Amino acid sequence: MSDLNIAVLGAGVVGLTTALELQKLYRNAHIDVIASCFESDTTSNVAAGLFRPGTSFCGPNEEITRRWISDAYRYWDYLRNTSEGALAGVTQVSGYIFSSKYPNIVRNHYIEKLVPVYRPATEKELKLCPGDWLYGSFFTTVLTSCEYYLPWAANKFLERGGKIQKHHVEDFASISLGYDILVNCTGLGAKHLCDDNKLVPIRGQVIKVQAPWIKTFFYGDYDTYIIPGINSVTLGGCRQYDSYEQSVNKYDSLNIKERCEALVPNLKSAKPIKELVGLRPHRDPVRVEKEVRHCNGKKIKIVHNYGHGGYGVTTAPGTAIYACELVRETLAGNSKL
Ligand SMILES: Cc1cc2nc3c(=O)[nH]c(=O)nc-3n(C[C@H](O)[C@H](O)[C@H](O)COP(=O)(O)OP(=O)(O)OC[C@H]3O[C@@H](n4cnc5c(N)ncnc54)[C@H](O)[C@@H]3O)c2cc1C
Repeated sequence: MSDLNIAVLGAGVVGLTTALELQKLYRNAHIDVIASCFESDTTSNVAAGLFRPGTSFCGPNEEITRRWISDAYRYWDYLRNTSEGALAGVTQVSGYIFSSKYPNIVRNHYIEKLVPVYRPATEKELKLCPGDWLYGSFFTTVLTSCEYYLPWAANKFLERGGKIQKHHVEDFASISLGYDILVNCTGLGAKHLCDDNKLVPIRGQVIKVQAPWIKTFFYGDYDTYIIPGINSVTLGGCRQYDSYEQSVNKYDSLNIKERCEALVPNLKSAKPIKELVGLRPHRDPVRVEKEVRHCNGKKIKIVHNYGHGGYGVTTAPGTAIYACELVRETLAGNSKL
């Protein structure tokens, strides 16, 4: 038996993936996941879940950022190929990104050499969708539907002996008693917990529709995307910086519908299922760092893992593996803090 007690704060894609990685590293530790919201109440559940980091996504430096992205791709692609891949909601999908503006919009230096296919669209493919598309790429990647992944990951964590508690954490001191280390995966919640002014919501809104004939994803200009998932197709989107509005905005809905139907006209006959809003936890750079806080004469060891913006499903496994290294360093007592 181990005397090691770890609390992971947060049960979105980042928290649960980090908790599973910690269980691999510390097989006998007592690990708790503590969160105020689960599954359909998280931002993770709003995401279409396509593996495609934005070209501006960044960790502390280029080398670490690339490591996060390649570790993450390996994790998702490995899971997809196991007997549990379908249960975990991980699939492979291909599609197009088009732009009428600039050639670099359709390039992605992070994944061009990572995914199995990433190539320029042919002249014929540039005419697949209405519009004056001048530039395009076709690529194959993975997609993780959090509607499946979050329950799958929570069950896996419980099966391996983890415990899950529903609780809103007011501050680190109030939760730290009895734990050797806290792993902070609270997404936008970290803004208050850490008083972090660099963490900003980027509001997104999507429409989930039934359109089973859509098997390919499409991205167009102005944040327009059509992404087929397991049970529905996600139509998006928007990026509203520093907006905390969590209700559906009817003007955003009309605008998304219009842009998506202009890109793929047969979506006009798609049946709407629901509309969702999520606040992407954006931070530049994403914070995966260790910290020791001193509170009432006591040391609180913390590893932060938050601020993934619009790319948390894509990169969660990569930052989780890195956060585990920081936990190991901190607990081994060789932390430079
Ligand atoms: C419209 C939209 C589309 C997106 N599409 C994609 C996509 O295709 N691909 C992609 O990679 N990403 C996408 N994203 C981004 C992705 O959803 C986020 O990056 C990701 O969900 C962040 O995960 P998280 O676990 O950090 O946060 P969350 O899912 O928000 O989880 C945070 C957890 O912390 C808990 N918490 C917070 N504060 C506290 C507290 N004080 N006490 C206790 N618990 C607390 C919450 O209850 C929750 O359990 C999209 C986002 C949006 C909004």
